[in-house]
Amino acid sequence: MYIIRFLDESGTEQYGQRVDETSAKLIEGDIFGSYKVTDKTARVGKLLAPIVPKAIFCIGLNYRKHAEESGAALPEYPVLFTKPPSALQNPGDPILLPRVTAKEVDYECELAVVIGKAGKNIARENALSHVLGYTCSNDVSARDWQLKKGGGQWCRGKSFDTFSPQGPVLVTTEDIPNPNALDIKTILNGETVQHSSTADMIFDVPALVSFLSEGTTLEPGTVISTGTPSGVGFARKPPVVLKDGDRVTIEIEKIGKLENPVRSE
Ligand code: MG
Repeated sequence: MYIIRFLDESGTEQYGQRVDETSAKLIEGDIFGSYKVTDKTARVGKLLAPIVPKAIFCIGLNYRKHAEESGAALPEYPVLFTKPPSALQNPGDPILLPRVTAKEVDYECELAVVIGKAGKNIARENALSHVLGYTCSNDVSARDWQLKKGGGQWCRGKSFDTFSPQGPVLVTTEDIPNPNALDIKTILNGETVQHSSTADMIFDVPALVSFLSEGTTLEPGTVISTGTPSGVGFARKPPVVLKDGDRVTIEIEKIGKLENPVRSE
């Protein structure tokens, strides 16, 4: 099922099953509990990120060629950092280049996993039963903080306001039985700058869910952004930094496109 969260024409927040670009069948109930798709159709006024995340876990260096372009050794364990839920941004709304403190802002296309059922110490073979679905994520990153200032401050560089665009569609697991066979790309101002497959992840989605649940309860509404492939701006020759007026599109097979303009704050 293709689920969206949106404002209807009266400005009321709704969940719906997407019908097309402009309309949805309203959902009643809790998408993390019991819900039903009604026959009531609403026009989509504005798309929102599909959920308000309880937590955002992110995985670094999870594609082999991206680890190579970053000059990093292949990780023995998944490399974990978090973003605050306050970094969330809606589809179509701007990625804001911070007015102070961060200058070298970059894009990263990532498959995002949405946890639907709580679990702790989840075995790899049960991992996908805890997943509600998948969406597109842009792990926006200020490279100056991540790589230079203060020595590897990943959380600092990736936590600024608007640095976690997500959406627009949450595709549930029955429509994506294998999340590790999806084409994934970033298009910057019309040019494809990242293009890979989620099959190239070093740690696949079941491995990540299992790893993150070790000693840690994964709550419904947790988002896991699963890492980015090669082609990021800082590793390009010459390097690319996002600037006011740019347009970033993250596209993942079977999910769709997450588009955001870039603006100076
Ligand atoms: Mg990333």
